[in-house]
Amino acid sequence: MTVHGSGFPQGRIEVICGPMFSGKSEELIRRLRRAIIARQRVQVIKPTVDTRYSESEVVSHSDVRLTATCAPTARDMYAKVHSRTEVVGIDEAQFFDEDLVAVCDGLANRGIRVIVAGLDMDYRGRPFAPMPRLLGIAEIVTKIQAVCMVCGAPASFSQRLSATGDRVELGSSERYEARCRRHFEPEEERQLELLRSRAEALRVPSQVHDAS
Ligand code: ADP
Ligand code: MG
Repeated sequence: MTVHGSGFPQGRIEVICGPMFSGKSEELIRRLRRAIIARQRVQVIKPTVDTRYSESEVVSHSDVRLTATCAPTARDMYAKVHSRTEVVGIDEAQFFDEDLVAVCDGLANRGIRVIVAGLDMDYRGRPFAPMPRLLGIAEIVTKIQAVCMVCGAPASFSQRLSATGDRVELGSSERYEARCRRHFEPEEERQLELLRSRAEALRVPSQVHDAS
């Protein structure tokens, strides 16, 4: 086990979770930058499936960036961690398979500080595997909120604005928005309605402006 100057073992799992736009990537990058300032050996890894903004970087919606490696599976990710690495940052963890739980556990047991960011719920408001199990075994859990795009209240849900039925549908503000419990509409039918009304609003921008 790696023991640092302060005498505290570093090995642990930290999870940063919440809906889309809540600042998970920003918070992950903030913690990793501090570790880099502390001259710790840091590796950043994200699933190959998430190539929305960049294949070689973790990127936040506010365009904060950090160089990252892609891994197709959790086991592959484990193999990519160098023997001398002290801190591992993982973004978009919900896209990894269930092996992620054992992989993070193994890394933490090796004395590595594992910081994992990911969606705790999918667009239907259901726990997003492998996050629930990871939350269960983590030492530190930070659940953050976004701003509801309907009323401005704190938001914990990710509203999908289209309805393909696929659980994994990559996209950003054109396909998803943050919603509070009151305004979250998980049903497919309602999502189609939302998509139609949004398309309508885009067609007649002046009327939308008048109505507000
Ligand atoms: P996440 O990784 O949780 O999806 P990011 O860290 O990529 O979030 O982005 C967070 C940033 O997104 C915020 O700092 C803000 O600039 C922007 N943002 C856009 N829409 C919202 C919203 N509805 N609520 C909060 N922040 C938002
Ligand atoms: Mg993110």
